[in-house]
Amino acid sequence: MPSSYHPEATSAAVEGHVLVTGGGGFIGGHLVAALRDEGRSVVAVDRKPLHEWYQVLPGVESIQADLSQADACRKAVRGVATIYNLAADMGGMGFIETHKAECMLSVLINTNMLVAAREAHVRRFFFSSSACVYAADKQTNAEVVALKETDAYPAMPEDGYGWEKLFSERMCRHFSEDYGIVTRVARYHNVYGPNGTFDGGREKAPAAICRKVIEAKLSGDHGIDIWGDGHQTRSFMYIDDCVEGTRRLMDSDVTMPVNLGSSELVSINQLVDIVEDIAGLRLRRHYLLDAPKGVRGRNSDNTLIQEMLGWEPSISLREGLEATYRWIHDQVAGGRTDRSLKIAAAAQ
Ligand code: NAD
Repeated sequence: MPSSYHPEATSAAVEGHVLVTGGGGFIGGHLVAALRDEGRSVVAVDRKPLHEWYQVLPGVESIQADLSQADACRKAVRGVATIYNLAADMGGMGFIETHKAECMLSVLINTNMLVAAREAHVRRFFFSSSACVYAADKQTNAEVVALKETDAYPAMPEDGYGWEKLFSERMCRHFSEDYGIVTRVARYHNVYGPNGTFDGGREKAPAAICRKVIEAKLSGDHGIDIWGDGHQTRSFMYIDDCVEGTRRLMDSDVTMPVNLGSSELVSINQLVDIVEDIAGLRLRRHYLLDAPKGVRGRNSDNTLIQEMLGWEPSISLREGLEATYRWIHDQVAGGRTDRSLKIAAAAQ
């Protein structure tokens, strides 16, 4: 184990509760489960009513609150020593390309959480940033050069969502430098797995493709719509690697933002190939060239995380997709729609 990772030491040193914001969401739910299983006292907070959370876990204090409000943040941090701040208004390309203002309003959550954390003398603060902070001109080719942490500047991030993440990263840095709060920042690259969004408009490519393949299989209509020409490239990180990397980074002494992503690069066509293999069928592909596509190619350069933590995500896409496919299959076959759909409906 590398010298910068001391979970036992940190666990012993940190008293009080651990707060996970966005605990009713995909990554937050899995992180809450992992922290609880480590024996931590966990508080999970999310804007959604509890019946819409992906996981409501016994032994965890689960609270509904809107953390864009300063008072709600002050209340949430009471008695808390450590914060994992994952709450954000976000989704896949179909959402972030069409909801830029909503994405930018997550700055209220991040600002109010940092201010409340400072006032309450919270010891450690984790922020979930994104590969969307990287400059667009470094992602114009499907034959990618993997993105290094330094590629975020000069800044030209994803409009809306990426700008907000980059700004909030910077706020973490300055709260750390000026007020002494220990902050840790991971730039997540496309996370997927069970208990996450798979329909309703906020889903990301792996879940969307699993759902479309399952629907085609169940309906007998063996066609699939693919956004873009299928040659765009990405890497996808399975949720267990995401949670482990988050925990390792939080307990480390690494102060700069770090890539947390798989380096297994695939095209969207290859992603569909794998899901078709799992489903045991082949589909007619229709390419929607005008649909939101995001950047042309993106991969995670894992040199820094390897150097700092002696670790990087390693769960293969095939293995992760098998588990994800099974879970989404159960949801679709059971007639369950994504719980976040209900929020959208309620808001209209
Ligand atoms: P998610 O949408 O499943 O979870 C986010 C949660 O935040 C949701 O449950 C939502 O209800 C909650 N939330 C939104 N606004 C809130 C508010 N005002 N107050 C309280 N809760 C609020 O998304 P996720 O995939 O679990 O993402 C978690 C974090 O990781 C986010 O910050 C996201 O930007 C970041 N991230 C995710 C990915 C990915 O591939 N999933 C990639 C890069 C970064």
